[in-house]
Amino acid sequence: MAMEVSSDRWIKCISTQGNIRGVAIQATELVQQMAERHQLKGQAVQGLGEAVVGALLIASYCKAGQRINLNIQGSGPFKQALVDAHPDGTVRGYIIERGEPQAPGAPLGEDFGPWGEGLLSVLRTREGDEVAAKPYIGTVPLLTGHLAKDLSFYWVQSEQIPSAVGLAVNMEGDRVSSAGGFLVQALPGASALDVRVLEHHISEIQSLAKSIAENSSPMHLLSQIFQSTAFVVVEEKPVQFQCNCSWERVQRALVLVGVPELEAILVEDKSAIVKCDFCSTEYRMDEGELRGLILRLKEASASGVDEVSD
Ligand SMILES: [Zn+2]
Repeated sequence: MAMEVSSDRWIKCISTQGNIRGVAIQATELVQQMAERHQLKGQAVQGLGEAVVGALLIASYCKAGQRINLNIQGSGPFKQALVDAHPDGTVRGYIIERGEPQAPGAPLGEDFGPWGEGLLSVLRTREGDEVAAKPYIGTVPLLTGHLAKDLSFYWVQSEQIPSAVGLAVNMEGDRVSSAGGFLVQALPGASALDVRVLEHHISEIQSLAKSIAENSSPMHLLSQIFQSTAFVVVEEKPVQFQCNCSWERVQRALVLVGVPELEAILVEDKSAIVKCDFCSTEYRMDEGELRGLILRLKEASASGVDEVSD
């Protein structure tokens, strides 16, 4: 089977003086694919797309084996977004729309972005030791409701790194025509002038959405930002959607539900359907499989074995 070639990727670079680093991402196909999986439309596609690109920007500076969860809880049309991203360029995530008019009594300023007020948190863990190792969590309030601005604030506040973030998702009808973003950071040794020059270039990109609509290549974006500041590319990596849910994981989850609850499901529904929030895949256990699982659990508890093996 031929692999579909996607041009989605990130490019990381550093100034030749070593005092400013940047990463730019193109994620057009990835965001479209996720929107289709979750059957999202319009503003929700843009909301999830921004969250996904934002999470990948953070993940691009994680160590191998780490992962990050970006969790945004807002008061605008989106209730919550949760994105799980890895430094290998894989990402999954979902968005929960509010689905009801905003509660009165909390009018937001006109400048407030679509996320409204709320909290943005980043959880950084090493794969497999969520319990053993203490994860790093940084939480900041949503100050503007614009995710790019609030992520810049997160970097400054929580990681003490002066940063500029840009995110954009363009739509043509219900399709994503371009999606991407950038993160540029001043490292120790960057002078105030170095930072001002880059800030000026970033402000010259009047609309990131317009810029990536014309050319969504990450290299093009980095050249626009760095201009005469010489830089070298340190990494170019494909980014893609990937969920690690599986039938085995679903079965393990059902085991935790316990025999009485499983028997109740068997009587009422005749089958169990478990949906993965991150990718919308539905796993269905039919009546026979459910009966088999209950029987195995009962036998295991009768013989004093805690866990059911396959
Ligand atoms: Zn999944």
